[in-house]
Amino acid sequence: MTARHPDDAPVIGLDLGGTKIAAALVAAGGAVLARHSLPTPATAGAEAVLDALADAARAVWAPGVTAIGVAAAGVIDPGTGTVTSATDTIRGWAGTALAAGLAARAGLPVACDNDVRAAAATELPGPHGDGPGITMIYAAVGTGVGGAVAVDGRMLHGAAGIAGHLGHLPSPEAGRLPCTCGATGHLEAIAAGPAITAHYTRMSGTPADRLETVAARAAGGEPHATAAIVLGAEATGRALGGLANTLGADRVVVGGGVPRIGALYLDALHTAFTAELMPPLRKLRPVPPRGGPDAAVLGAAALTRTLPLHHPASTTGAPR
Ligand SMILES: [Zn+2]
Repeated sequence: MTARHPDDAPVIGLDLGGTKIAAALVAAGGAVLARHSLPTPATAGAEAVLDALADAARAVWAPGVTAIGVAAAGVIDPGTGTVTSATDTIRGWAGTALAAGLAARAGLPVACDNDVRAAAATELPGPHGDGPGITMIYAAVGTGVGGAVAVDGRMLHGAAGIAGHLGHLPSPEAGRLPCTCGATGHLEAIAAGPAITAHYTRMSGTPADRLETVAARAAGGEPHATAAIVLGAEATGRALGGLANTLGADRVVVGGGVPRIGALYLDALHTAFTAELMPPLRKLRPVPPRGGPDAAVLGAAALTRTLPLHHPASTTGAPR
């Protein structure tokens, strides 16, 4: 399962989200040769999702393709190729043998990882860069607070594939608020999009359907809306600043939907981040992802070059 495919062959990248599967055929140099997308059968069970992933791969397949890389929602263990844990966004996803199930359907070796980590890997310098690899913290602030951490150029996976879960750092701003993981006082409980919206409602007594509504009220001068957004931003900025000190970060990336609400959020995050930094890091500033519309599928395709490949049992006969 550790064999790698030839470096000059095209591979397939699959990005599995809660609503959509995006597929791309990616040449060795990184050019996207074909694209396809289809809806994720999120309520139909894991077998249906594996079938859909195989369908998406077939739609972009071409002769010479040697492997499939999958960037998937949930906590993924690249070593075993399984979904360690997941929310109910995709029903029955936790525990799924993702790599083995897709390899058996598609007849190709499969590498897989968490989608945030796969996207973050595209922010690292390529394998031909000079000098030692960088240390990077990548935060994805959206419905939850996810992330990825690379140290000296190497992406951390950690026990059960869980490394990089920034949202579950203790956060003073979160007080005793319950977290989605079952603990209390974690960053995600005050800094995720729904958490900012809920905190606004707690302070103001006024319901809000979504974060954009809170942002619009802040822009209109409503103080509780401003306070909730600033608190979420400060909590994230402080956590990232502390992590930057801990790891000696060269690069800090903040992506996801929440930063897109604008300057109020980003200014507060940057101020809080900078205030935490130790003197040698004082010039460090968070940056948005380099991104691009193909970042997710390119990140997925690149997994086939950096992670273990899980081969279909029928073509290798290898025990797994
Ligand atoms: Zn938590």
